[in-house]
Amino acid sequence: MPLVVQKYGGSSVSDAEAIQRVARRIVETKRAGNDVVVAVSAMGDTTDDLLDLANAVTDDPAPREMDILLTAGERISMALLAMAIRHLGVGAQAFTGPQAGVITTEHHGRARIIDVAPGRLQKAVSDGDVAIVAGFQGLHPETQDVTTLGRGGSDTTAVALAAALEADVCEIYTDVDGVFTADPRIVPSARKLDRISYEEMLDLAASGAKVLMPRCVEYARRFEVPIHVRSSFSGLEGTWVTGAVEGEDMEDPIIAGVAHDRSEAKITVIGVPDVPGSAARLFEAVATADVNIDMIVQNVSATVTGVTDISFTLPADTVPRATAAIEADHAGIGYAELSTDDAIGKLSLVGAGMRSNSGVSAKFFTALRDAGINIEMITTSDIRISVVTRAEKLDEAVRAVHSAFDLDSKDGEAVVYGGTGR
Ligand code: ASP
Ligand code: MG
Repeated sequence: MPLVVQKYGGSSVSDAEAIQRVARRIVETKRAGNDVVVAVSAMGDTTDDLLDLANAVTDDPAPREMDILLTAGERISMALLAMAIRHLGVGAQAFTGPQAGVITTEHHGRARIIDVAPGRLQKAVSDGDVAIVAGFQGLHPETQDVTTLGRGGSDTTAVALAAALEADVCEIYTDVDGVFTADPRIVPSARKLDRISYEEMLDLAASGAKVLMPRCVEYARRFEVPIHVRSSFSGLEGTWVTGAVEGEDMEDPIIAGVAHDRSEAKITVIGVPDVPGSAARLFEAVATADVNIDMIVQNVSATVTGVTDISFTLPADTVPRATAAIEADHAGIGYAELSTDDAIGKLSLVGAGMRSNSGVSAKFFTALRDAGINIEMITTSDIRISVVTRAEKLDEAVRAVHSAFDLDSKDGEAVVYGGTGR
């Protein structure tokens, strides 16, 4: 019997009615002759509400207790979903991450899945039941503590379950009809992709496309799990994320899509001595703060002064940590001044066909110029160009690039069924 792993996000299970609707879809899949294992997220904005509560009682919540708190969100939805399925006459059993055999590293709030021991899930499935697993959580075996995988982690849970169970497909149900050439909330004319490679999806996800979490795509690529991203609201065929298909490359469009990201900030270190070792010293300081740096730009130094400016981008919520670490080594790095700016946006154009096509950058920069958008930073990889702009210009920039590359759909506007796109 084919085995299907399905993942339902928070907006698909936002209230009792939504849970019943999801239960009906699961039952349909089961009755169509599949074994079904489900990973589910917390209902609606539960995770945010729990985070707000924690921050209301203290400004420094303990990471271990934070994970105990946040994992409660998925316990609620998994239990309710199992009950709703049983109500429809199909057997269902709910499992927490630890009960489902999801083993992780010890890092609270950002644990990685190391392994899945799917014995209990296999037993439930062979008993003819649907197994419902709480997404976003696991167990660190040494401490026996529950951990969470980072925001949006239920996608990764689903892919890890699919890999461990050797499922035929991992269906990720969300509130749009698949992966689009841009976020349909910003570009209503965005086109749904029928297929995208792991590689392109990874770059889009890492560049801010919120439809899938980067780590889940990495996991899928490593274990060659085919992902089908689709809507739980429409039931239409969505987007397949798979390895490159032999012989199909020639037909592949040059560009897969445009992603944007508003979650980063920029730090500029002004007046850094232009001598060997300055950048090393600066980024050593940042590394001690456990901050992920994205783009880096070093200005040309004026020969008269012998100093330069270095700017870099990082997740906005890590700015306080990073600046504290840099300030702690003020004398060692020898800079004059530090400035931070969180009113930036990042736009990325992604496509494997860029590799073999000249003229992509020219068209990209021309589109931004024609829209009157100033570029503050640029980075590239062989399948991606990213730029930083003012945050308030970002939407306009996304639309300008999207239409310059003829990505607009010919058949009407994309539908956003709900949620916030997070
Ligand atoms: N509930 C968690 C979050 O909102 C995990 C998830 O939705 O995937 O981040
Ligand atoms: Mg969520």
